[in-house]
Amino acid sequence: MKIVRFRHRGSTLEGEVLDPKTLRTPNGSRVPLADAKLLAPCEPTKLVCVGRNYADHAAELGNPVPEEPLLFLKPPSAVIASGEEISYPEYSRLLHFEGELAVVISERCKNVPAHEAPHVIRGYTAMNDVTARDAQRADQQWTRGKCFDTSAPLGPWLETELDLLDVAIRTTVNGTRRQEGSTRDLVFRVPHLVAYASRVMTLEPGDVIATGTPAGVGELRIGDTVEVEVEGVGVLCNTVVRGSSEAAIG
Ligand code: MG
Repeated sequence: MKIVRFRHRGSTLEGEVLDPKTLRTPNGSRVPLADAKLLAPCEPTKLVCVGRNYADHAAELGNPVPEEPLLFLKPPSAVIASGEEISYPEYSRLLHFEGELAVVISERCKNVPAHEAPHVIRGYTAMNDVTARDAQRADQQWTRGKCFDTSAPLGPWLETELDLLDVAIRTTVNGTRRQEGSTRDLVFRVPHLVAYASRVMTLEPGDVIATGTPAGVGELRIGDTVEVEVEGVGVLCNTVVRGSSEAAIG
């Protein structure tokens, strides 16, 4: 089942995706997707992201594969929905896309054993871990590199049922395939990531665990349209615009 959050006629609704063009509201009425404004599929208190979780991606940036998951956070202010714009930070000259599978948590939890991880997962979606690579490289902390407004496009919706063994993740820029990988190549798999992250901090409903990017990261320029497809979930689509000084709107 695909769960979607959207705005329609002034209301914020959570419904179901019936087919690629039709949504169903909680009261059963049908809304053409074209008449709805998609919202990010969850409202996280934090996004727990995993770095270097595909060996081929670690190698392409000259990094070793870590012995335990390498975690960093993105703030909720980084989240945008599919269809919203990525704002190119004014301090960066090298913006990268990173297509990823994201896991959304269903309930408050802490110290979840790996074998119980499925019980605290609400669903799966696509994320673009947009990165100002030059700022990431310049700073020991990755806050400027990965936490700016609009650096966490998320969506287009949640898929509640997904066999995680071999899920394709594909990123295109302006229609050209730039990145393709599969969850079969994850270094640390989803149950281990949920267990590991929940040992560090309490996870809340709507929190996101972004599982890392496969090889093939590359540059985004102003005007580019970037799509991250997670097989069986959907396509997250965003356009890059020049950085704005306005506050993020959610
Ligand atoms: Mg990443």
